Amino acid sequence: MRRVNVHNSGPRPSRQVRAILAATRHSGSETASDPGPPCRPAYLALHRSGELLERARRMWSMMGKCRLCPRECGANRLQGKRGFCGTTGTTLTVSSFHPHFGEERPLVGTNGSGTIFFSHCSLRCVFCQNWEISMQGCGAERSVEDLAGMMLWLQRIGCHNINLVTPTHYSAHILKALDLAAGRDLRLPVVYNTSGWERLEILKLLDGIVDIYMPDFKYWDSGMASTYSSGADSYPGVTAEAIVEMQRQIGSPQYTAEGVMQRGIIVRHLVMPNTVSGSEQIMEWIAKNMKKDIYINIMAQYRPEYKAHQYPDIARKITMAEYASVVEKARKLGLTNLDVHTASLMQF
Ligand code: SF4
Repeated sequence: MRRVNVHNSGPRPSRQVRAILAATRHSGSETASDPGPPCRPAYLALHRSGELLERARRMWSMMGKCRLCPRECGANRLQGKRGFCGTTGTTLTVSSFHPHFGEERPLVGTNGSGTIFFSHCSLRCVFCQNWEISMQGCGAERSVEDLAGMMLWLQRIGCHNINLVTPTHYSAHILKALDLAAGRDLRLPVVYNTSGWERLEILKLLDGIVDIYMPDFKYWDSGMASTYSSGADSYPGVTAEAIVEMQRQIGSPQYTAEGVMQRGIIVRHLVMPNTVSGSEQIMEWIAKNMKKDIYINIMAQYRPEYKAHQYPDIARKITMAEYASVVEKARKLGLTNLDVHTASLMQF
């Protein structure tokens, strides 16, 4: 999910709504600036021991009857069959790769987050803002070797991390590429920028490889997940379990002295109109199950894209009041590290 600037029309927000948002400016940089001990990317030790390549091989074999994502559609990708996500065969499709300055502040630093956007997606949301990439698979076909080259290039031009966007269906390719790149002196933290809908078996294989998890938590309600994400009714339960596992793997976050994240978890939540995403329940779950200072990006940029106009409840942008009520809820629950989009919202 990418951040987009929102320019909503409509009345000026009430004084009360503006007060809620002003009181909850992003606190991430304040809590994020405590530098931890010097941090080396987790995957280097596993590369040296041969374990990284071994895990890559195990994941690769799963594509024979694919179960890389919770769809477990069983496509034989090794024999060129196409999966539910749209992938086929053993090559991968990459939409773009470049330094990205629109990601969360602890990832962007001064030189940008080294973002690699993968094409196709297993979730297939009806409101996807990047549907040409996720649904139509726009992009260029690349090899594992190419992917390793992209990682090294992003490091060479000074990016702070390798940010893998929508990686799930290419996780086996990514591990192979990472092993190649680590052998050629890749030293950047790896960001796993996912829809959050991840199988535990896959996450266990990523343990010790991923430095920063950046999962979405999109829906609280199974029915909503099914309606808007192509029948993915397991989304809320699977994602909650996945985020708990991510926290178990990562432990406490670590930053450089400049506040650039080296290790950690960033949870993204997109507020949708008419409480479709169950935002308040998600904030309650986070407050109960995660550390109170976990970084949460409460995203305001929802806009009806792709097929969203066919669904009345999501056929409009959110209002300022809808967004502010989520922020207020999070604040009352004691969540302290909120990334709140006050500036763009003031234009509502
Ligand atoms: S990653 Fe794609 S091919 Fe594999 S199980 Fe999921 S939808 Fe099917």
